[in-house]
Amino acid sequence: MTIQRNPTRRVKIGSVAIGDGCPIAVQSMTATRTTDIDATVAQINDLVNAGADIVRVAIDSQKDAEALIEVRSQVSGNFSVDLQENYRLAEVIAPYVDKLRYNPGHLYHHEREKPWEDKVRYIADVAKDNDCAIRVGVNCGSVDPDKKAKYAADDSISPMLESAWDHCRLLDDYGFTRYCVSLKDSDPQKVIEVNKRFAEERPDVPLHLGVTEAGMPPDGVIKTRIAFEQLISRGIGDTIRVSLTVPNNRKHEEIEAGRSILDDIANGRVRSVVDYGLKTLNIISCPSCSRVENEAFVDLAEQVKEMTRYAEDHSITIAVMGCRVNGPGETDDADLGLWCGPNHVNLKKGPESIGAYTYDEILPKLKAELDALIELQVGQ
Ligand code: SF4
Repeated sequence: MTIQRNPTRRVKIGSVAIGDGCPIAVQSMTATRTTDIDATVAQINDLVNAGADIVRVAIDSQKDAEALIEVRSQVSGNFSVDLQENYRLAEVIAPYVDKLRYNPGHLYHHEREKPWEDKVRYIADVAKDNDCAIRVGVNCGSVDPDKKAKYAADDSISPMLESAWDHCRLLDDYGFTRYCVSLKDSDPQKVIEVNKRFAEERPDVPLHLGVTEAGMPPDGVIKTRIAFEQLISRGIGDTIRVSLTVPNNRKHEEIEAGRSILDDIANGRVRSVVDYGLKTLNIISCPSCSRVENEAFVDLAEQVKEMTRYAEDHSITIAVMGCRVNGPGETDDADLGLWCGPNHVNLKKGPESIGAYTYDEILPKLKAELDALIELQVGQ
């Protein structure tokens, strides 16, 4: 199948380029603690050996940045750094990486200290001085609150788009065009819609595609496949990441899944021509990253999937998140949400917090809440 790709700009990231008809680059992200240098080096090697074109590593602190500099001296490959909430680390790490990823939603914190526009210009200056590309990574769970407030509560797509367009405009006006954009959601239908609408307005900007918190295989791969098939078949998408909740020694599965989806699309083996309506139990879980504070998180996600099988015919979404940073926000839209701390798991019903329970206590508590929800649905 010949796919007419969108005429996006070419953006160089280390030894690869995305956009402008270049092959779609497949990437992944480490889930080890960045300060655990041996484990991070081993995971990067595993991903590169599986065929990763770009590997992303998150840093949250000066210690993480120093660890990444050491990691970088031990491995080869193209590196993207996730600045998370600490954009000032850009100047420390930029000489050692090929791309800086920032989340517009995180630049609004401490707004009084410095307007977001100044922070973006600072990141662009650092990228320019250090031969780096930028990814403007918009995420459904952490959109700028002012943008959210402008739209109806059930419209999560417009605030994401407005945020992405604002950042593109600012970077363009500032003369920095070596960037790509991502717009991620855990719902594949929303990923399709938001990326289609973005690409209609800005067909020149390369897109990084991904379904965030897609969950465990095989469901996580299926959700991602649906979004990628619909977008890539229309020429949208220049680099991809499949986010899966898998143990650290299986992270290479993200690369294998991505390559297999691209191969199928290129050969016309597209399966998702029909709408993907979630009429069943939907478990979303984050792919984990260096922020996970208790390694029991991946096991817990598996246990939640097993324990809730009995509810599979009910239209209920359960979100399981690995950390306190993004967990609280990214569970708000789920019917039931769990986000993991070092010793406790926090349970939520929609945006409302129910309580914090130990890892041993959480499953029965979740089951009680799930039973109550089912009873409510059946009674309606
Ligand atoms: Fe990492 Fe937390 Fe996002 Fe999970 S929710 S991927 S642990 S930042």
